[in-house]
Amino acid sequence: MTEPLVGSGASRGLGTTARREGDTWILNGQKKWIGNSTFGDLTIIWARDVADNQVKGFIVENKTPGFKVEKIQHKMALRVVQNGLITLEDCKVPEENRLQNDSTFRDTARVLRMTRGFVAWEAVGCQMGAYENALLYAQQREQFGKPIASFQLVQDLLVKMVGNITACQCMVMRLSQLQDQGRLADEHASLAKAFCTVKMRETVGFARELLGANGILLDYNVGRFVADSEAIYSYEGTREMNTLIVGRAVSGFSAFI
Ligand SMILES: Cc1cc2nc3c(=O)[nH]c(=O)nc-3n(C[C@H](O)[C@H](O)[C@H](O)COP(=O)(O)OP(=O)(O)OC[C@H]3O[C@@H](n4cnc5c(N)ncnc54)[C@H](O)[C@@H]3O)c2cc1C
Repeated sequence: MTEPLVGSGASRGLGTTARREGDTWILNGQKKWIGNSTFGDLTIIWARDVADNQVKGFIVENKTPGFKVEKIQHKMALRVVQNGLITLEDCKVPEENRLQNDSTFRDTARVLRMTRGFVAWEAVGCQMGAYENALLYAQQREQFGKPIASFQLVQDLLVKMVGNITACQCMVMRLSQLQDQGRLADEHASLAKAFCTVKMRETVGFARELLGANGILLDYNVGRFVADSEAIYSYEGTREMNTLIVGRAVSGFSAFI
């Protein structure tokens, strides 16, 4: 979905175009940040049909002539995932590779609903990882002749982390129950994504603080969770975008501009 010049505004401004010629679609444009596109066989490309101006989805084989991927370098977060900058130059895709049940951006939003729920779960996992490492450290690290876990203010950090994690776990559990019941709405997924990622950032910050200087070293893992939280916080819709979706649902007014 995302492009170098279009992130949050994808619903209105996708620059990648699809032009139909008989049973072939011709795609042109660029996509940025596309996960694992550097080695995947297939990529889903969302492009604007020049005929009706609607967003449509296409399954593109990465070996198609005119499809080029460049690995994005110098990421400080989620380094385990490769992200690609894709360039499409007269890339030809057969009509049978068009997602047949996707003909407007509203259909595309169904995918985002699922992926946002998934990222809310990721935010829970990231917090749990940071907490588990911080707890272990607190139990082993000694200052003033005692494990730092025995100090009241260190326990305060641990308890704040447990509180955030428990609240987020309950929320994503409820999210999945709604999904199982076929009742998951956009605003549910957006609320969970926004809430859990805000809490995640706070939790990993507490964990980092608890480790003192060692909190910035990769060797103690917490630093890695701190870095990864920054990517998780921004993708699948920033906090602002997800807040606008929930705000529209609760107030009845769209504040999107
Ligand atoms: C590690 C990583 C992996 C990713 N993987 C993928 C992927 O696989 N596929 C994919 O399609 N994309 C992917 N993305 C892209 C991601 O979804 C976008 O980065 C995200 O949607 C935000 O877009 P942007 O970075 O262009 O920020 P922008 O849209 O430029 O936003 C910049 C800032 O402005 C704010 N803002 C923008 N509009 C408004 C408004 N109307 N009101 C208030 N604030 C506003 C935003 O909230 C943000 O704080 C990935 C990103 C990362 C970091």
